[in-house]
Amino acid sequence: MIPFVDLQAQYNSIKGDIDSAIANVISDSAFIGGKYVKTFENQFAQLYGVKHMIPCANGTDSLYILMKMLGIGHGDEVITVANSWISSSETITQTGATPVFVDVHPEYFSMDEKQLEGKITLRTKAVIAVHLHGQMCEIDTIGSICKLHNIHLIEDCAQAHFSEYKGVRAGLTGIAASFSFFPGKNLGAYGDAGCMITNDDALAEKCRMYANHGALKKHHHQIEGINSRLDGLQAAILSAKLPYILDWTEKRNKNASLYNQYLSGLKEIILPKMRPESKHSYHLYVIRAKKRNELRIYLEKLGIETLIHYPTPLPFLPAYQYLKHTPADFPVAYELQQDILSLPMYPEMTEEMIAYIANGIKKFYAEQLTHNAERITHNA
Ligand SMILES: *Cc1c(COP(=O)(O)O)cnc(C)c1O
Repeated sequence: MIPFVDLQAQYNSIKGDIDSAIANVISDSAFIGGKYVKTFENQFAQLYGVKHMIPCANGTDSLYILMKMLGIGHGDEVITVANSWISSSETITQTGATPVFVDVHPEYFSMDEKQLEGKITLRTKAVIAVHLHGQMCEIDTIGSICKLHNIHLIEDCAQAHFSEYKGVRAGLTGIAASFSFFPGKNLGAYGDAGCMITNDDALAEKCRMYANHGALKKHHHQIEGINSRLDGLQAAILSAKLPYILDWTEKRNKNASLYNQYLSGLKEIILPKMRPESKHSYHLYVIRAKKRNELRIYLEKLGIETLIHYPTPLPFLPAYQYLKHTPADFPVAYELQQDILSLPMYPEMTEEMIAYIANGIKKFYAEQLTHNAERITHNA
């Protein structure tokens, strides 16, 4: 059995670190705030190369807090991409603004930067650029367009910890960025967790305040805020994992090259394409596959778990029916939805596992050919 992600394998590889981190927090009763949160905050900011890291309860909140503190609200429009997790758009609505979607790039699956400018109106206040699957979008072009039109650029880095484009890490081009530490993300807690990063002092302070009931000091509520805190246990677990993240990212890249190697030459599938001058973090390894649904069932019978990210593009979800979009509005996202398939991907995978998965895929298409040949013979 090859699961899509194996969190147990990662725990087993660093069990000692995790167990003592958890024990320390409990013996110090440092459950909310406190030194473990502060430590992780500093460690992450330093390793990432950013001035401020503001922890919060989850990645969704971090997007919402950033937009709120940038003054986005009723009457505004915020642009994001048609293929993402719903957090990228539902948080726009939470602020009172309206989400506007851009179709995806046919080769890289993230926002098609060429179609961004056409979506900008006088009401546009921000763009949420999602670095989907661990590969950055064309953030230079997107950044220039935002500057030209004087709108904020927020980077959703939930799937792109330590990814790079032209030597710049994800999240360092826009005014600020959001991260998720959901357990299955590249740097994952043992529960919900997230953060914002920015080099803007004033924005950092506002976000920190808003996430903590509008107060930087207990009982000093400057504004009304929300309760979105990172807890001590999650912070200590994340601190224990942080020293391994670059190594894990390397391993994900190695697994991706093994997949590329073992799957090369199969004409029924399209392998994920690497953007030149970029460093992928392979949160997901997504192929395009003919007869995708049949292939999934076939692989499941071989004990291989696969997923689809995402089965329905955001504009076509019932939640956005009110925007009255049709497939013609987002033809690329609509087409991709029929054949994208995410294969198992995590640092602890072995070459044998990848070879087994690749063989399963090859066998599936070979059997399809045989079936077709038999059908032709039969008809003749
Ligand atoms: C996971 C994810 C989020 C939300 O993170 P949570 O911590 O689950 O709230 C936001 N955007 C994208 C692209 C994600 O993949």
